[in-house]
Amino acid sequence: MGEIRLSVVAPCYNEEAVLRDFHRRMSAACLAACGDSHEIVLVDDGSSDRTWPLIEELADADPHIVGVRLFRNHGHQLAVTAGLSIAKGSRVLLIDADLQDPPELLPQMMQIMDGGADVVYGQRASRSGETAFKLATASLFYRMLNRLSAVPIPRDTGDFRLMNRTVVDILRGMPEQHRFIRGMVSWIGGRQVAMPYAREPRFAGTTKYPLRKMVSFATDALTSFSTVPLQLAVWLGLMSAVFAFLILTYAVVQWMLGNVVPGWASSLVAISFFSGVQLVVMGVFGEYLGRVVQEVKRRPLFTIAAIRQAGVSTPLPAD
Ligand code: UDP
Ligand code: MG
Repeated sequence: MGEIRLSVVAPCYNEEAVLRDFHRRMSAACLAACGDSHEIVLVDDGSSDRTWPLIEELADADPHIVGVRLFRNHGHQLAVTAGLSIAKGSRVLLIDADLQDPPELLPQMMQIMDGGADVVYGQRASRSGETAFKLATASLFYRMLNRLSAVPIPRDTGDFRLMNRTVVDILRGMPEQHRFIRGMVSWIGGRQVAMPYAREPRFAGTTKYPLRKMVSFATDALTSFSTVPLQLAVWLGLMSAVFAFLILTYAVVQWMLGNVVPGWASSLVAISFFSGVQLVVMGVFGEYLGRVVQEVKRRPLFTIAAIRQAGVSTPLPAD
């Protein structure tokens, strides 16, 4: 195959129902966009269904496929990171395996990049088949993120994007554990061009992002791109101190006037109010501190169990 012009990286978590169709449509798009010199990296993120045997089967039949199996479920962002560490192409496309991002847009994205863009990111002009709850929380999330973050992060984008080698190498060089890839790519800068598209409903299977994962994803995004919550803690602390001082003054004045009231109820209210504030502040500290602890560990970001390409299995990434 020689030099690889394009790598496609697709994370797959229990996607047995869509993989064949994804492979068919993605291969056609790759052929149309850059002919034979492409690879499709399918990362099995610790699936519990038949995703991996299926990837092995596809890889045995099609030499363009590189199957990567992680030891366990590391989550979407780390699965993508694992794929990026393997991808050799001079351009890399990140795309979901569930066909919500249409593979057919690839040739158009390649063209935009030919015009000099470093990153071409898909921006959702419409999103069919998503719940009102998902749409509302996503919109709130991006508004808040952009208010709090110093790096502008375009709204209505996912990880569906084409990046050139320079951007990919910088991204790979960022060692942080809590990865919010679309934000990290925005941080890198360069010429980033939006390409509006209609996001499809999921082709088959169900979403792998339950509320729990959405919340942890949003927390990762906020804490890795903003320290405003930390400053908020300081403000809360200051405000409660001022409030406490006012109450104290009031109490002293009452005492001097001789109104010694046994008011234990009000002190109880004050105590619980301030312990509440303290708990909030401590919670925010804990959130950041926890991240520091994790970063300091310098654990590997993912664990690759096997790679399979053209009928051959290798136990370790061929770097
Ligand atoms: N995914 C993954 N690991 C996970 C969750 C999701 O690799 O722990 C993959 C999934 O297979 C899909 C992509 O990430 O290709 C996006 O996930 P999903 O479609 O479930 O999210 P949604 O589109 O509903 O936000
Ligand atoms: Mg999806």
